[in-house]
Amino acid sequence: MVRDTDVVVIGSGGFGAATAYFLMRRGGRRVALLDRHALASQTSPRAAGNAATLRSTDPMSRLARRAVEWLLRLSADTGEPLEIVQSGSLKAARTAEDAETLAREASRGERLGLGTRVVSPEAAHRMHPFFQPGGVRAVLHTPGDVYFEPSHVASAYAAAAGKLGATLLPNTTVTGVHLRNGAVEGVETDRGRIDSPIVIDAAGAWARQVAAAAGIHVPMVPTRHQVLITEPVEGVRPELPIVRIMDAAVYVRPCWGGFLAGGYETEPTQFDMEQLPPGFSVADTPLDLGVLRRLMEGVREQFPVLSTAPLRLHRGGIPTMTPDGQHIVGPVPGAAGFFVASGCNVAGLSIAPVIGEELARWIVDGRPSEDLSAMSIARFGPEWRDEARLRRAAAWEYWHFYSYDAPSS
Ligand SMILES: Cc1cc2nc3c(=O)[nH]c(=O)nc-3n(C[C@H](O)[C@H](O)[C@H](O)COP(=O)(O)OP(=O)(O)OC[C@H]3O[C@@H](n4cnc5c(N)ncnc54)[C@H](O)[C@@H]3O)c2cc1C
Repeated sequence: MVRDTDVVVIGSGGFGAATAYFLMRRGGRRVALLDRHALASQTSPRAAGNAATLRSTDPMSRLARRAVEWLLRLSADTGEPLEIVQSGSLKAARTAEDAETLAREASRGERLGLGTRVVSPEAAHRMHPFFQPGGVRAVLHTPGDVYFEPSHVASAYAAAAGKLGATLLPNTTVTGVHLRNGAVEGVETDRGRIDSPIVIDAAGAWARQVAAAAGIHVPMVPTRHQVLITEPVEGVRPELPIVRIMDAAVYVRPCWGGFLAGGYETEPTQFDMEQLPPGFSVADTPLDLGVLRRLMEGVREQFPVLSTAPLRLHRGGIPTMTPDGQHIVGPVPGAAGFFVASGCNVAGLSIAPVIGEELARWIVDGRPSEDLSAMSIARFGPEWRDEARLRRAAAWEYWHFYSYDAPSS
């Protein structure tokens, strides 16, 4: 067991594993990647594996595009497998308001060089014969979007970090963070203390508890999210675009010859991880297929096959929602050496490579290459210690996943 290192990364999901990998690529530092469970085994492998290049803000879209470039070359970079398809995506508006949003998004995407354009529902149907145009007003086509096998990403980065010399410590739980005079000195684990001047909290659903051990409040809410995968359906090809239906908050993509579909319910299940048993694993998350069935029923006119195709698999995990829908990434003021990578907002796996790359830059060069202040934990005032308020805002962000205009609180 390592007793001192230069960087401790807590959590080997997408955020933590990518950070460890990019730190090792930069070289010159000893990195220990710790996980309370098996490596890369919690929420990350249970994701849908969609990556959107057009995000809610221009800076996020630039980062998302860079992340897709990393994902496309992940296998070449790491020597680990990643199934990935650049299928593009179709985002469908059924309401007049959403159609207006799409028109704005199309020009924004075009300005950012993403090749986005609005197409007719009939043109979208020709691109994706399972998508029916009835009830749809407009569709945004984004050609560069990809989908990938989610279980490969964090495990590939963790393995690659290990090959580059990182110490991999699965089944090692961080139980405390040592701070002295406002600076990090290391972590306490169930296998002993590890001294380190830099600690990165990438503990996924548990990131709040890890930070709380250092007296830091991370305003996010662990929230259940689920997907289903159908049995193979005749005529489904891997290159069919991802489809998102805005007001229904439902997404669909090809998977294993059938479809993978998920969506955002209006009253999501939120967790206080403190209340769960100590040995809790994301695999134990209570699931509810009824939620997905209702969401699929809501898009029956556009995607009838989702209501009829036999179910092959149903899975879920616990992503973390913030009250403004933006990630929480970067150093924590008042705790020198302590960094957070949290608030994935159900979009963390696809952005993980660039979060890892930027955190590595921050640590090695003293600052990231882009202005990441919009992701700073410093943006949150004391009002977000009000748990009821935090939960309300996080739930709103969850079910308005495809609409970008958030309420003010
Ligand atoms: C059904 C579903 C669909 C999704 N679809 C998408 C999608 O299409 N695109 C997308 O980008 N994202 C998607 N997501 C979200 C994505 O899965 C998350 O954003 C991402 O996996 C978050 O990674 P993470 O590293 O924060 O968390 P995790 O993968 O959960 O990793 C955190 C790790 O920290 C470890 N840990 C916790 N506490 C400690 C401790 N005290 N000591 C040591 N280790 C600890 C945990 O064991 C865990 O392995 C989806 C999620 C779900 C559930």
